[in-house]
Amino acid sequence: MGALAAELVFGVLLAPQCGHVSTERAPIKLLLVDDAVFARDFLLAILAEVESGIELTWRSDYATGLESLQGGGFDVCLLDYQLGDRSGLDLLREAKRLGVRLPIIMLTGHGSAELDHEAMRAGAADYLVKGDFSAESLDRIVRYLLERTRAEDARRDSEERYALAMEGSNDGLWDWRVGEKEIHYSSRWKRILGYEPDELPDLLESWWERVHDDDRVRLDHDFDGHLRDTTTPHFENEHRLRHKDGTWRHVLVRGKAVRDERGRATRMAGSLTDVTMARSRDPLTGLANRVLYLDRLEHSFHRAARDATYRFALLFIDLDRFKNINDSLGHDIGDELLVAIARRLEGCVRLVDTVARLGGDEFVVLLDESREPDGATRVANRIIEELARAFVIGSRELFTGASIGIALSSQHYKTPGELLRDADTAMYRAKAEGRGRFVIFDGAMHARAVHVLSVESGLRRALEAHQLEVFYQPVISLGSQRPLGFEALVRWRHPERGLVAPCDFIPVAEDSSLIVLLDLHVLKSAATQLRAWRDEFKVDLSVAVNASRRHFSRAEYSGDVAQAIEVAGLPAKALRLEVTESVTMDLPETARAQLAALHALGVQLYVDDFGVGYSSLSMLHTYPFTGIKLDRSFVAGLDGATSSTEVVRAILAIAQALKLEVVAEGVETLGQHDALISLGCTRGQGFRYARPMAASDAAKWLSSKL
Ligand code: C2E
Ligand code: MG
Ligand code: MG
Repeated sequence: MGALAAELVFGVLLAPQCGHVSTERAPIKLLLVDDAVFARDFLLAILAEVESGIELTWRSDYATGLESLQGGGFDVCLLDYQLGDRSGLDLLREAKRLGVRLPIIMLTGHGSAELDHEAMRAGAADYLVKGDFSAESLDRIVRYLLERTRAEDARRDSEERYALAMEGSNDGLWDWRVGEKEIHYSSRWKRILGYEPDELPDLLESWWERVHDDDRVRLDHDFDGHLRDTTTPHFENEHRLRHKDGTWRHVLVRGKAVRDERGRATRMAGSLTDVTMARSRDPLTGLANRVLYLDRLEHSFHRAARDATYRFALLFIDLDRFKNINDSLGHDIGDELLVAIARRLEGCVRLVDTVARLGGDEFVVLLDESREPDGATRVANRIIEELARAFVIGSRELFTGASIGIALSSQHYKTPGELLRDADTAMYRAKAEGRGRFVIFDGAMHARAVHVLSVESGLRRALEAHQLEVFYQPVISLGSQRPLGFEALVRWRHPERGLVAPCDFIPVAEDSSLIVLLDLHVLKSAATQLRAWRDEFKVDLSVAVNASRRHFSRAEYSGDVAQAIEVAGLPAKALRLEVTESVTMDLPETARAQLAALHALGVQLYVDDFGVGYSSLSMLHTYPFTGIKLDRSFVAGLDGATSSTEVVRAILAIAQALKLEVVAEGVETLGQHDALISLGCTRGQGFRYARPMAASDAAKWLSSKL
């Protein structure tokens, strides 16, 4: 195959032109092996006539002749048939067997055509009739042979180089005589498809039967087209071939036909290059690209259709702030960041999972066989944490973050496209919810998204139109029933619906960034109101404000709080922030930092609705909380049921030991009130004392109690 394929693939004629006799006259080293002295003298005599001179070295027997042939240093050899009792032909054969490449001219006698033929078959370069050649003819034949040898050496060199290059470039070769079933494949060709050279027969069908169904028509068209059409310079086609392990390899095939005088293709040969990596990998990050990823997704999808127990999950990842970084610091930095992100993503998944870059800053993860229901969320959490850590690029520390949408495989998906769409929808929701989080798509999500959108826009207008009003519910000292302060509770004074309770709009606000604006509005109003009452009534009252968990992923929160109380002129210790225990569970570290900053301001921190979650008092004690609000479900149980009484007794005992204040919520009856007092609880809040009231009513209530 070598030369033809080499020529075809590289498109250059590798063998230098043969038959061209150099006119340049360089001294030529001639070895004469002949046992007759007169032969040497004859040669010396005729060589003397040649201008350039040929240097002659004479060996008279088989052994020294062979030694000189092997030793090298000669350009050409004249070898006599008769070497004492040995034959020159034997020496010729032995020399060839030992790999001597020096051209050897046999010296023969007249009329020994049979011998001449034998000599040529044994590898002689030519023959001359002994004692019957002129100086010119010797000179010409020697120089011609020399030139031919050089050409052959060059050709052999380039073939070797070519073979090496082929090996190095990982290409496979093929060579086919048009019309035959057999085709020659190089070992490399077969290894690309995972086969050892003897495992795959050298038949055209070994190739064709492995072609992907979708690629076959095109391949036939291109291949036959080049065979028939003399005007196409070469054949080129990319298709998929089935590897021994069942996967698809993308191969690029190039070839060229050799034609007879009438232009009919007689032979076609070429190369086969494995371009799977290039076709399936994102060149920047080396991650799977869209093509490979869709392949795998389809694979998982079909598997799920066959095997009901098989589960997989799709994670759509969107980078926060990437565009900013790219625009402000340049594409090189952006690229480096993407590569670093790719490596961290790979670190978050198992080998069987697929991390792909779809382009830009969009990454996806395909989790294979995610059997545990929380597998996907655990990976999502890990990714969010990993991408939130600083990236050191050059001398810079860069921060990004990720929003993730998750779609879980399920029987109701009919196409991979539906799954993709849902993961995408969930990702947009995650982004809308304030980034740095993940959202799992569920069927109700679409309907809910529509509902949320309408409530959200209504709420936004309500904020601007001052329809959000703060109500105040007193917190009292259970013993004296004197006011200790108020809890600020928001109400929506809706033009059509009247007074709307927080449970109808707080969850929606929490689904968007609106809750941040809403809470700050309540905080400012309540702080200002309380400052006014403290001034008016000259009492040391505090105000409790509910703080959504959403604040605790924002670094600005403690600053916002500091500003609100400063503007209102309210001492920090008169402000109480109520947070649910989930804050410490969802965001252990960022929440800790925020809570510490708020504590440092002097603000009091309370755990709201204590007891309904899963946190323990001893765990909460590691945060700077001042107290807890005992959930009203416990208080409601105090009217008789003894088990509730015991639970409350235990909570109060532990709280006391940990020096945490306790406010009982939702006290509605005298029985509950009495029970709390007998258990040692000193603070309470509930309809029994007062309902949440508009500011003007609360002021009247206050003046009546002081
Ligand atoms: P919460 O912080 O636990 O507030 C106490 C809730 O219990 C209030 O409901 C209050 O009206 C109600 N309540 C008080 N005493 C009694 C009683 O004796 N019996 C019964 N059955 N209920 C009583 P509200 O005002 O409807 O608020 C509900 C929740 O909405 C609050 O629960 C709080 O989590 C949230 N919320 C209210 N205002 C805000 C706000 O400005 N920001 C945020 N983030 N959340 C708020
Ligand atoms: Mg509260
Ligand atoms: Mg509460």
